[in-house]
Amino acid sequence: MRIAVAGAGAMGCRFGSMLHRSGQSVILIDRWRNHIEAIQTNGLRVIHEGGTSTYRLEAVTDFTTVGVADLVMVFTKAMHTQAVVEQALPIMGPHTQVLTLQNGLGNLEAVTSYVPRERVIVGVTNFGTELVAPGVIRALGSGETVMMSAHGQITEALQQICGMMNEAGLHVSIEPDVMSIVWKKVAFNAVYNPLAALTRLKASDIGGYERFDELVNGILDEIVTVAKAEQVDIEKEDIIAAIQGVLDPAMSGEHLTSMLQDVLAQRATEIAFLNGAIVDKAGKYGIAVPYNTLLTHLIRMLESTYEKR
Ligand code: NAD
Repeated sequence: MRIAVAGAGAMGCRFGSMLHRSGQSVILIDRWRNHIEAIQTNGLRVIHEGGTSTYRLEAVTDFTTVGVADLVMVFTKAMHTQAVVEQALPIMGPHTQVLTLQNGLGNLEAVTSYVPRERVIVGVTNFGTELVAPGVIRALGSGETVMMSAHGQITEALQQICGMMNEAGLHVSIEPDVMSIVWKKVAFNAVYNPLAALTRLKASDIGGYERFDELVNGILDEIVTVAKAEQVDIEKEDIIAAIQGVLDPAMSGEHLTSMLQDVLAQRATEIAFLNGAIVDKAGKYGIAVPYNTLLTHLIRMLESTYEKR
């Protein structure tokens, strides 16, 4: 299968390298020239528990130089989804499937504003990856991936892509109620990411705050109420259990959350697609979401004052 990774940062390189290793034809496409040139010159270097592996993958900065792909895997941050899908239109034919496993609310809407739902697959993954330097990623342990066709039917194309990704070790399952899993991950990230970014603490240290439960309950009660208004059934207890899991240093508790990494590198964050999206949706239903509103303001304030730090 010809797979194009649109936005080949940490996760695009992780998935791309695993699919390449399993024998698929993969091309990485990213607008970050230094990163692509490093991969072209030295190969993609993946640091993992057993050492460092180097993969010779095709990598380009320009979509117009790439032929039609069978699968386009969108792996930009959420605020770049709309733009990257528009740029990727020349590499999509009438049978090209487009997969988004990105975090946040709004990626599916951005993709389906260009691509018919029948050819869109949506899901989430909890594989963790860091981009260490241009052309170098660190693969953090393993993970699971769940996905489903955006139009709600299990198609042959979905099953084929799922099988191909499983051969690559991406641990994929098809989940008909995928949107509740997308929302659970949004809820998880809406707690864990802004708190870590604002306090500059590792996951394992955030949970040390004596009134952490009170704070988490406040944020999650609002998200669960908005989800229910959107006809998405999520339970607060499930999300709290997921949060407790990563607070354990033995799990990924020592990991810096992606929003904290963005803030430290003075980059834009995905706040508008996490707590910010909750605030926007709450507004439609007249639901008060003061915790999420405050977190959104504080992260936006941080993002808009990087030059003063
Ligand atoms: P990243 O910032 O490392 O990579 C995104 C890449 O997209 C960058 O290299 C950027 O140059 C590129 N890009 C942006 N706009 C582009 C455009 N128009 N054309 C071409 N390239 C473009 O991000 P990431 O950590 O790989 O995360 C990607 C998505 O996956 C996010 O939604 C994130 O929340 C989610 N996610 C990340 C992890 C993780 O561990 N890193 C885990 C699960 C989910």
